[in-house]
Amino acid sequence: MARLDIHSLAKRYGDFYAVRDVSLSVADGEFLVLLGPSGCGKTTTLRMVAGFIEPTAGHVKLGGTDVTLLPPWKRNAGMVFQSYALFPHLTVAQNVAFGLEMRKLPRADIDKRVDEALALVRLGGHGGRLPRQLSGGQQQRVALARALAIRPDVLLLDEPLSNLDAKLRQEVRVEIRELQRQLGLTTVMVTHDQEEALTMADRLVVMNEGSVRQVGTQRDLYERPTDRFVAGFVGRSTFLEGAIEAPGRFRTDGGLALACTGSGSGRGVLALRPERLQVAAAPIDGLDNRLSGTVEFVSYLGALIDIHVRLSPADRLVVQIANREGGFTPEVGQSVHVAWPASAGLVFTE
Ligand code: ATP
Repeated sequence: MARLDIHSLAKRYGDFYAVRDVSLSVADGEFLVLLGPSGCGKTTTLRMVAGFIEPTAGHVKLGGTDVTLLPPWKRNAGMVFQSYALFPHLTVAQNVAFGLEMRKLPRADIDKRVDEALALVRLGGHGGRLPRQLSGGQQQRVALARALAIRPDVLLLDEPLSNLDAKLRQEVRVEIRELQRQLGLTTVMVTHDQEEALTMADRLVVMNEGSVRQVGTQRDLYERPTDRFVAGFVGRSTFLEGAIEAPGRFRTDGGLALACTGSGSGRGVLALRPERLQVAAAPIDGLDNRLSGTVEFVSYLGALIDIHVRLSPADRLVVQIANREGGFTPEVGQSVHVAWPASAGLVFTE
């Protein structure tokens, strides 16, 4: 295994930057996830690391060696594609052997490594089948075996679970993560699925419009998002529009004066995490912000309940409560009290 360093990587198509100035380091054995909405440049970044796309600018270093201009088969990166990209006319074993043949390994070594890789993904005995004779989950594991067979310095996963059904996806997540730990594989995975990213990553990189917006652990991103985009993309937030009136004081466009954290001045948004707010039929004492409002919408999510409360003509927020036996569940149209500490509100100025 090896560390991966990406320096000021960029990819331009005509006037459009698919990726701009991305710098990242992935430690030896670390599982890094690139998370962001569709089209933000995740796949392009991963493909530049793999060698399938030539960067417009910047460098990729694997184990300290600059591999920016090497073709894919000359850099030791194992890639799993979203579509699996298995060769349909080749058997499972031949698919797994492909990268080894490109690297011109002796036949005996190839056979040994194919067997090892198939055993790792629990597909021993399936080597003679064709991809179409396998389930989606098994095909995905063949793609993983093919990437592992080359004993990669870095494993690159491009939305590897997106073609699996929800239940299988949860199982394969755990399998991949356990295998990655067991082998100590330096790994970069791309996904737009927040839950998948949070479950699997050691660290996450949030991207938008070709740029890195924030890098950190799950807790860093959730507790200390650096901008509105991250606050809305990782976890949920209600955003109230308005302006900072004085330090620690936010005035919403609907006229509410709220205690908050965050510095700056001028217009901005107050971001509130739904689960940090409280709702009750009676006034709630002891918290910095105490307001009343009317319930406009309730969504029952099983373990959790979302309550949408109108605080002013311009201000509506979501409070999320746990679905507890005998707990308070307001109904649409009911008047309620909402409260939260100043620390639950983060302001982002424009
Ligand atoms: P998704 O989750 O949908 O796969 P992504 O974050 O992986 O999205 P990329 O595939 O990296 O996004 O694409 C980033 C941007 O670059 C997109 O706007 C895409 O349309 C554009 N793009 C990608 N490849 C090309 C190309 N060959 N020519 C022109 N534009 C491209």
